[in-house]
Amino acid sequence: MNAKGPIGNFDLVKKINMEHTIGTILRYRPISRAKIAAITGLNKMTVSSCVDLFLQKGLVVELGTTGTSRGRPPTLVDLNEQAGICVGIDIEVNQFTVLVTDISGKKLDSRIYTMSCSEPQPVVDAIGRLLAELKHAHAHRVLGLVGVGIVIPIYYNTQANVVEYSANLKAWTDFPLLGSLEKQFPDLPFYINPTPYAGAMGEVQFGRARTANHLVYVSSSWGLSVGVYNDGELFTGTSGTAGRLGHSTIHMNGKKCSCGNRGCWEMYASVKALYDMLDTTQPQLPFADIVSGLQQGDTRFIAAVSELGHYQGIGLANVLNAYNPRIICIGGLLALLGEPLLSAIWKTLHDMVPERFLQHLEIYCSDLGELGVAHGGVSMAIRHLPSAVIAYSLQEE
Ligand SMILES: [Zn+2]
Repeated sequence: MNAKGPIGNFDLVKKINMEHTIGTILRYRPISRAKIAAITGLNKMTVSSCVDLFLQKGLVVELGTTGTSRGRPPTLVDLNEQAGICVGIDIEVNQFTVLVTDISGKKLDSRIYTMSCSEPQPVVDAIGRLLAELKHAHAHRVLGLVGVGIVIPIYYNTQANVVEYSANLKAWTDFPLLGSLEKQFPDLPFYINPTPYAGAMGEVQFGRARTANHLVYVSSSWGLSVGVYNDGELFTGTSGTAGRLGHSTIHMNGKKCSCGNRGCWEMYASVKALYDMLDTTQPQLPFADIVSGLQQGDTRFIAAVSELGHYQGIGLANVLNAYNPRIICIGGLLALLGEPLLSAIWKTLHDMVPERFLQHLEIYCSDLGELGVAHGGVSMAIRHLPSAVIAYSLQEE
């Protein structure tokens, strides 16, 4: 046996015990030491030593007792939500939204910044200044800034570590976003994801789908794309571009799309398609006016949304056949169309898909609003909280 083996193993075992303990606290908090031991299968002494270390480091707090058992009631342990902050940044075509939360995901602040430039570097510089400010303002917290989830309206190639091509943000193509952020903040964890992936994570962690194991999030704004969440993980494909279903063909020889193909789903079922149906443009007719007109029963808008929902339904039938989700969440601007859109989608699904495959399916429009996707960014950082907690706990004083 290697002479260093047992020492290395001891450190590894300690780390694994800490992972189980903090993971269980995060999942079931507040929770007693005895319950942690029962759930993890670790002995009570081991759990107590992990919890005591977290307490001493200010990462968890004791909350008093459950008051339910006989004899000395157990003390409950909870995460110290104030121990650090997480940041989610939702970059859109003309603006970016910054959401700052505590490490449980509770909102502390949110701000919207206008992007006046189509180049990526000035945006990265603005984000850099903001993160430097936040790091400074929250330096008193033991973990400080734990992580930053950056959400982009484009796919991010995780093999090449560059932004993929997008017709809407052409200047960003092949931009090394992660490298550029890490150059400014070498010690800060960044998690970059496209809007549909973050949207799915936001719904599962903060939205209506908290109990879902299988969810498809359809990011429905000027383009369409899909984020597939399955049993705790996102389906990202080989290089992080899975879900480009907006460019799946629903009409042979149909309308020409910016991707070069014809008859793409997003040419018929996106915000862009809705404006084409209404034969107008956003400057002439703001999207909010369509939403309010629809609510007031304007027949022109009702007819257009019904046609849009029909085309949404055609694409969703493909989504359903491919992924067998329990929940489909419509996010983005089209979520604001609500019930009229949903009923048109259901009508088409009933025509296209055998009833038995629709029985347990739920489709809803996201109600997380304008911070939904930024919450998805935060959830990326929170998923990595256990490693931040363990790294800090193992630091020498
Ligand atoms: Zn296309």
